[in-house]
Amino acid sequence: PDSDKTTTSSKKSAFDALAASRLVTELRGNFASGKTRSYEWRLLQLNAIAKLVVDHEQEIVDALRNDLGKPPLETVAYEIAMLKNSCRIALKELKHWMTPEKVKTSIATFPSSAEIVSEPLGVVLVISAWNYPFLLSLDPVIGAIAAGNAVVLKPSEIAPATSSLLAKLLGDYLDNSCIKVVEGAVDETSALLQQKWDKIFYTGNGRVARIVMAAASKHLTPVVLELGGKSPVVVDSNINLKVATRRIIAGKWGSNNGQACISPDYIITTKDYAPKLVDALKTELEKFYGKNPLESKDLSRIVNSNHFNRLTKLLDDDKVSGKIVYGGEKDESKLKISPTVLLDVPRDSLIMNEEIFGPLLPILTVDKIEESFDVINSGSKPLAAYIFTNTKKLKEQFVMTISAGGLVVNDTTLHLAVHTLPFGGVGESGVGAYHGKFTFEAFSHKKAVLYRRFIGDAPVRYPPYTNTKMRL
Ligand code: NAD
Repeated sequence: PDSDKTTTSSKKSAFDALAASRLVTELRGNFASGKTRSYEWRLLQLNAIAKLVVDHEQEIVDALRNDLGKPPLETVAYEIAMLKNSCRIALKELKHWMTPEKVKTSIATFPSSAEIVSEPLGVVLVISAWNYPFLLSLDPVIGAIAAGNAVVLKPSEIAPATSSLLAKLLGDYLDNSCIKVVEGAVDETSALLQQKWDKIFYTGNGRVARIVMAAASKHLTPVVLELGGKSPVVVDSNINLKVATRRIIAGKWGSNNGQACISPDYIITTKDYAPKLVDALKTELEKFYGKNPLESKDLSRIVNSNHFNRLTKLLDDDKVSGKIVYGGEKDESKLKISPTVLLDVPRDSLIMNEEIFGPLLPILTVDKIEESFDVINSGSKPLAAYIFTNTKKLKEQFVMTISAGGLVVNDTTLHLAVHTLPFGGVGESGVGAYHGKFTFEAFSHKKAVLYRRFIGDAPVRYPPYTNTKMRL
């Protein structure tokens, strides 16, 4: 029967609003039975996710190779290891997270006690993106299950090998009556978005995020929106240049060839320091990816021809002509673009007015490094911002004046791996946050519970409201 299917593939069957509505009704029924609320069910599902990741590591690596030409080490380090860690933390902490938190009460309610009970929201939808398609799909699902919800996952159609592997593995390993995968693109996602959900967790770009939020608003459904932006790197001269350069490269090209939401989007440094930084980037890039980076097996390819053409257009813009100081090679047949550094691009060029999400790295220059803060603050709030400096005052100024989803001082992207830090955007880079306990909280309602007994029934609150009572 249909209800036993975990996967609804657009290739196999039309998944329309009616099918979506049936799916949600089925999940609502199963959620109402109470099974997802028990500690044992949550534990069983989380252990099953941990097991499926271990059992199918090679297939996951192969799927990401197919979808993105992703180097196996990047898949193992950034998708598989991080997922294992998320499972480990959720399994270790689940009991603690589920335990109601006792809180103080007020004199106005004396005698009483109170607690905050974390309850599941109900039936939730997770829509994920293509660039870290395994991690970005399962990480929120882990939190949704830990919090006791029924969940539908809609992976990205732009990473089709991973999408179908996820559908197969979740079908094989998890409780299909409460956890489902719907594969598909815009039509299928639109059908899902027409339904009433108890939370929508979306990862992707800001344009679609607005569609998601508009759909959610019809039912007052809360959303988490994990978006992107132009994440800057401020490079001061008081640094260890070699270490800083390597860390910038790791965050940019070593993270899916720049196709990562927190990858450095552009650098700001001083006019005086820029030549040194460019030289260091050239030296280290060549050490990492050789003289012909288009042949390097350690760089992901561009995901598809749409994105290849979009990035090509950024380089073909007249305003950046002559600004490439390193790289710029392309191979359309293999969808490869080499690591490319541009110096002194105009602020009104195309490349400075959209998220780059690829292997191009412009460097802006300023007279004094402090001016970089104004440059950053004049744009939308980014998902991440980085600074390299040994100067205490500059670090402090950076932390106090830059508004971004997350900041890292003297490195790039690593805040993602610290599960005690919330991961999410601010302003146009997103709404809400997750990772570690924050994922559990994103899928929970914190229910306020006040306990009273029948003693201490103070007459003052009841009519008649006499003058004596007024004076108390
Ligand atoms: P994408 O194209 O895979 O889209 C994301 C999801 O939206 C997919 O599941 C897709 O099917 C769905 N979708 C696309 N068009 C839709 C429509 N019209 N209606 C409904 N659903 C639709 O991914 P993308 O948006 O190209 O992802 C890249 C963006 O995501 C970048 O901006 C990046 O910074 C951001 N991102 C953010 C994070 C984060 O954790 N904050 C992580 C990864 C990517």
